[in-house]
Parts: sequence; structure tokens; C-alpha cells
Amino acid sequence: IFTAVPRAPPVAVFKLTADFREDGDARKVNLGVGAYRTDEGQPWVLPVVKKVEQMIANDNSLNHEYLPILGLPEFRANASRIALGDDSPAIKENRIGSVQSLGGTGALRIGAEFLRRWYNGNNNTATPVYISAPSWENHNSVFVDAGFKDIRTYHYWDAAKRGLDLQGLLDDMEKAPEFSIFILHACAHNPTGTDPTPDQWKQIAAVMKRRFLFPFFDSAYQGFASGSLDKDAWAVRYFVSEGFELFCAQSFSKNFGLYNERVGNLTVVGKDADNVQRVLSQMEKIVRTTWSNPPSQGARIVATTLTSPQLFAEWKDNVKTMADRVLLMRSELRSRLESLGTPGTWNHITEQIGMFSFTGLNPKQVEYMIKEKHIYLMASGRINMCGLTTKNLDYVAKSIHEAVTK
Ligand code: PMP
Repeated sequence: IFTAVPRAPPVAVFKLTADFREDGDARKVNLGVGAYRTDEGQPWVLPVVKKVEQMIANDNSLNHEYLPILGLPEFRANASRIALGDDSPAIKENRIGSVQSLGGTGALRIGAEFLRRWYNGNNNTATPVYISAPSWENHNSVFVDAGFKDIRTYHYWDAAKRGLDLQGLLDDMEKAPEFSIFILHACAHNPTGTDPTPDQWKQIAAVMKRRFLFPFFDSAYQGFASGSLDKDAWAVRYFVSEGFELFCAQSFSKNFGLYNERVGNLTVVGKDADNVQRVLSQMEKIVRTTWSNPPSQGARIVATTLTSPQLFAEWKDNVKTMADRVLLMRSELRSRLESLGTPGTWNHITEQIGMFSFTGLNPKQVEYMIKEKHIYLMASGRINMCGLTTKNLDYVAKSIHEAVTK
């Protein structure tokens, strides 16, 4: 009965890691992985997470009963609070709600499913969904799988100037049909590492408001862009202060290093409390048939951390450790390329923010890096700065130089 099933293509980033593992060359470097690594190239369990895990293990009041369908209440409330800010007008006016989700992906998927069912007409699969060009490749797939039929891209990356194509983006918003959905990266845009400035966000918000466009923020790297949680949430908070109704999908995979615990949160900001409660009641139905109720360990870790001033301070410190290492690798790579005299400009390496850098290497150069140098990176030229270490920097810089000059 399964003989006619075609083989689906592998997921690029996981395939890259599998190829890396199989590579026997001692010089090999993995710049494709979507996770933090220490200067020893190892995964990092945040010290605050280790501490809270022990507290949880020793807490005899906890058990493994099901959580509510919408998740752990103190996790949901506090996750939304760090996205929207302590003094968010929407929180004060009691017009926000949230759903604990399986990672940021789960938040996007529940949000997408809800929008297809209830936004802009019931089961309206024709509402255009706009995704930045380029974007995290799963955005497209999530909205396709949720049933949306008209997925479009909006201008974002200007390859020639290696920066944001603000005019292209604004033009696309001007031309988009009213009520279109726009997926916006809250900070540390993946894969380009390029975010709008506050002034540019204001221009974006003004057009979106005038054109009745729906903002669906994806916040997967809060703390990674600037090292400050508040600064990295600026765009979301600005949109809320402008009176938008919006969704915000949060992932705690990166900023807590809880990749495999699947900790995410979908915040809904609505018009009033009643409105939001009705939305949540529908989301509850979606969750019930999707994962029924979420896992608790990651949510407990995050909730415990966010509700204790001392643990919260420790967490911010841990996030800063990760963000600072990324910054150091950026400046070290740039200075090496510049002293090698590698053709082109390399200021974008330090100007881009977050974990990733869009190097500007073309697919041929990427292939050379992989095949000849055993340095693994995405075909788009995206590298994860955390794959760099003080030990492999020289080799990577020289290899980029050779790829560009050969
Ligand atoms: N959005 C973006 C932009 C991401 O880069 C990622 C993770 N790669 C996610 C969402 C989803 O993260 P999670 O692993 O928490 O599902």
C-alpha cells in the first residue's frame, strides 16, 4: 500500500549535519548547525538551566500529571511578559493571551492553523501570506501545511548592498491586498542577520496599519541580537503600542539552549479580554487535536527562571555570554579576511547580528568550501557564527579567501 509514496527530500540543515558527521577529515568545521556552540565546539547547557533542573528534580510537590491544554499558566504569562514588556499597555488592559507550544515551530503552526480557520473569513485559504525573501525555510512549509494557498515573498535582502531593502519591502506592503498576513522576524533575522532599525520599523508599522496588514512576529532569538532582552523586543512592543492586534511566536530553544525540550509560546494581542478569550478557546481546540497538551519540563525551567529575580539575572548573564562570543567571532573573522586582503567588503560580518551571517558566498563557492575544505555551510552562504572557534578561525578565513579568489 505504500509503494507509490515518493521519497521526500531531506531537510537541508539536518542533511548538512549528517554529511558533516560522516566526513572523516580532521580539519572539518560545521558552520551549518542552527545551535549555539562553545569555543570548544560543544553544545552548552546554560548554568542557570542546570541549577533550575536540579531544583525541579528535588521538588517533591511536582508530578507528571497532564498540563492544561493551553499549557503551564505561569510559563505562558511570563513568556508573554518578556516579549511584551513589564509595562505593556496590552497586559495592563488584560487583552493578551497565550498558548504554550512545542517550540517556536509549534507556535507558528498553531497560529497559522488558527488564522486559516478564523481570520478574514472562515477557512479562508486565499488570504495572502507574505514571507521575507529570504527567510527561515520552514515558514513557507508551515503555512502551506496549514492550508494557505497564496504564499508570497516580500523584498527584504538587497544582495548588492548586503543590507535591508527597505524600499522594496515598503512597496510590497503598499501593493499587498488588505488583510494580508506578514511574517516578521522580531529580531536577528534568519538567515540574513539584518534587522530594520527602530526608525525603519516605524515606517513599516505605519504602512501596515494604513493597509490593514496583519503582523505575525516570529521571535526565535530574543537576547541574541543585542544581548538585551528589551532591545530585542523593541519592534513587537512598538507594534503593540501602536494598537495592532497581532501574534507573536516565541522560541526558547536558542536563548535557553533548550532545543530538544520544545519550549515555545504563542502570544495573542487582541482588542479586548473577551475577544482574546474567544480566540484562545479556538486555539485550545486546535491544540487538542495536534498534541493534546504540552510537555512540562522546559516550561517549568523557563517559568522558574523568569519568576525569580536572582535566576532571571543569571539567565540574562548566560545569554550575554553567548551573544558576546558571537560578537567576538564576528570581529575575529572580519579582521582575518581583511588582513588576508580577501576581495570584497567584509564589514557586513560585524554589522549583521544574531547567530547567523549571510556571507555573500555564492553556491559554487559554498560547494568548494564543503568539497575541498570540509567546511559545511548552507547553500545560501549562511554561516552560524557559533561554529567558529579560536582554533578553527584561521583555517575558515583562509578557506573563504581561497574560495573567493580561486
Ligand atoms: N523561527 C526561526 C526564525 C528560527 O530560526 C527557528 C529555529 N531555527 C524557529 C522559528 C523555531 O524554533 P524551534 O526550534 O523552537 O521550533
